[in-house]
Amino acid sequence: MGSILVVAEIQKGVVREASYELAALAHKVAGGRPIHSLVLGSGVSGEAESFAKKGGGQVLYIDRPELASYSVDLYTRAIRAAVEATSPELVLISNTPSGWDVAPRVAAALDCAYLSDVFSVDSEGGKLVFTRRVFNGKLDARVVTKADRAVATVQPGATAAFQGASDGAAKALDADLGTARAKFVETRVSESKGVDLTKADVIVSGGRGLGAPEKFPEFVKPLADALGGAMGASRPVVDAGWLPHEYQVGSSGQVVTPKLYIACGISGAIQHLVGMKGSNYIIAINKDPDAPIFEVANLGVVADLFEVLPKLTAAVKAAKG
Ligand SMILES: Cc1cc2nc3c(=O)[nH]c(=O)nc-3n(C[C@H](O)[C@H](O)[C@H](O)COP(=O)(O)OP(=O)(O)OC[C@H]3O[C@@H](n4cnc5c(N)ncnc54)[C@H](O)[C@@H]3O)c2cc1C
Repeated sequence: MGSILVVAEIQKGVVREASYELAALAHKVAGGRPIHSLVLGSGVSGEAESFAKKGGGQVLYIDRPELASYSVDLYTRAIRAAVEATSPELVLISNTPSGWDVAPRVAAALDCAYLSDVFSVDSEGGKLVFTRRVFNGKLDARVVTKADRAVATVQPGATAAFQGASDGAAKALDADLGTARAKFVETRVSESKGVDLTKADVIVSGGRGLGAPEKFPEFVKPLADALGGAMGASRPVVDAGWLPHEYQVGSSGQVVTPKLYIACGISGAIQHLVGMKGSNYIIAINKDPDAPIFEVANLGVVADLFEVLPKLTAAVKAAKG
């Protein structure tokens, strides 16, 4: 039985929430396997220490200026060096843009199994069982690999972040990273920032049934605000330019697991369901009683959303006093 290696991701100088989710998964399935993490970046030794105390286990870090920005070449070599140092049975990487980029290269370089888009890992009889969505979310595949080692990318928001303390320590890893073949130029952040649906406890999403962009601030946002939540959307809303992509829930948007998801004027196509069906409680408002969204809803309201939403918003405000 090998160890588990969590590849943490640094964003704006700190370990991302998604990396704490990987740590939680690692603790869930460890069953005696040692947990290691790798932290890469420039000026990250403090974050590495902190991560070791918050679920990262025994943390290795490489703190170098050339790692200040993501580089597929340097990161692949660094992860390989960490694998050599820790002999993991499982390498966990977040399903983020850099994760998609680096994980298959690491798996190919190690000649081991590769599982993308995993949303759950379980330990059954000592074996690791991976669950991933296939056929655009129509089926969940449970996969056991024959290989001795697997690299898996895990969807952010698929599990809760590790909470509490652990007693790991951080240690610098000496590795020859060579040179990068690609040069980092710049990161461009889209203008309308500030929406991270994966962290919202409540999401009120609007679909094509809203009919026009101005209906979102008029009908959807007031309910989201009243509930202290965030606004989301289906893909046609984003494709039409009514809201930026960061609002999109679904297979080509965000996978979210809020406590409460309210779908307004959303039919419930499989590509949307795959992004929200893990929500704790789902309310659907749709005027079509046969809309597929009702199949996953805990509470279905067959009605015109333009009549229901203002009343619901007023009722929430009244209840909150
Ligand atoms: C590769 C691929 C990836 C995709 N990725 C995504 C994704 O990430 N996310 C996503 O959402 N979709 C995605 N889609 C698109 C998806 O297939 C659907 O087309 C889309 O989800 C439909 O959006 P909708 O429910 O808002 O619109 P529609 O399917 O048009 O549904 C609108 C609904 O609003 C209801 N309605 C209309 N007026 C009212 C009213 N006044 N009151 C109440 N209800 C009303 C209607 O009854 C209807 O059910 C993807 C498609 C493909 C092929």
